[in-house]
Parts: sequence; C-alpha cells; structure tokens
Amino acid sequence: MPKFSPAETQLPTEELDKLAGPKLVSWYKRMLSQPSFAKVQQEISDALSKWDENNRWAGILHAGKRDEAEQTIFDKIVAKSIPSQVVFEDDKVLVFKDINPQAPTHLLVIPKRRETLSQLRFATAEHEGILGHMLAVVAKVASEEGLGDYRLVVNDGRGAGQEVFHLHMHVLAGRPLTWPPG
Ligand code: AMP
Repeated sequence: MPKFSPAETQLPTEELDKLAGPKLVSWYKRMLSQPSFAKVQQEISDALSKWDENNRWAGILHAGKRDEAEQTIFDKIVAKSIPSQVVFEDDKVLVFKDINPQAPTHLLVIPKRRETLSQLRFATAEHEGILGHMLAVVAKVASEEGLGDYRLVVNDGRGAGQEVFHLHMHVLAGRPLTWPPG
C-alpha cells in the first residue's frame, strides 16, 4: 500500500508496472475511479504517512524502515566476495578473525543482515533476538576455541573507535587485558 501513495500514482505507467506488475496496476487505477475505494485508499495512505512521520516503521523489523546506511566491507565478507578467516557461522551471524589483531585472538562477531544496526545505538526491542543470539554465539565460540578469559567490546561511534558501520562485537583474548581501556 505505501507504494500506492497518490504521489506515486503520478509515476509513468512503466514505473508503476515495475513496482506492482501491469495487472495489479491497471486493477488499482480502475478501482481508484470508484469514490468509496478512493476514500479508503486516502485514509490508509494518510495513516501510513503518520507512521512515517512518527518513525513507527523503525520499531517493526523488516516492515518498511530500510537500512539506508552505506554498505561496508563486512557486506563483502558476508557475501564471501572478499576472503576472511571464518571461525563460526550460522544463518544469522558470522564470526571471523580481525585482519589487524589487537590480541593473540581477536575475533569479530557480526549479524549477517545488518537491519539498520550500523551502530548499536540504533537497536530497538525488535533487535533483541539477534543481539541475544550474538552474545550466545560469543559464549559458544569462546568455549569451543578455548579462549579462557576474554574481553567483549562494541565501539559505538567514531569517538569510541568505530570504523566499520556494521554492528560488530570484538572478542579479544590471549593476553592480559588492562582496565581502563584506552
Ligand atoms: P571498529 O574499529 O570497532 O569499527 O572495528 C572494525 C574492525 O574491523 C577493525 O578491528 C579492523 O581491523 C577490522 N577489519 C577491517 N577490515 C577487515 C577485513 N577485511 N577483515 C577482517 N577484519 C577487518
């Protein structure tokens, strides 16, 4: 329905056809000429624009809030179009060795689908599943790799040292780690 906002019905027919296919578009245009349909369409459109204005989509994972941040090198790592040393993966996460290790063991844990999590600060209740899963994977990998004591770090923002804007957890182990960190 958002695709059919009145503004978009002004699109050239070929563009509309690409959005929804010619049959649906011609049905939709025919229906719009009926006042009762046009009225309902307008009401739904208005309600959905309010959702946009109030950022309501952001709370509904996969439901309209698009991940518009730039792609990062981690997308290429997930797609395996650039190599990485993978330690663990499942359908949701990838764990691989950091290319510039800050400790004898330095792993990165990332969600395969970023889903607006370019930074941890954009997490909502809808991300609890993936965030919890990432932590469970850290524990599993730490145990399987025999890491012993380790530190888990998330840099959130450039001022905190973040360089790659695709949420990742650093797992550091294999040497004494001092506190406070730099
Ligand atoms: P951050 O500074 O928290 O954003 O961490 C990004 C991390 O990604 C750094 O520790 C980098 O060394 C690491 N990194 C960048 N490119 C690669 C790559 N191609 N393979 C593995 N790790 C990488």
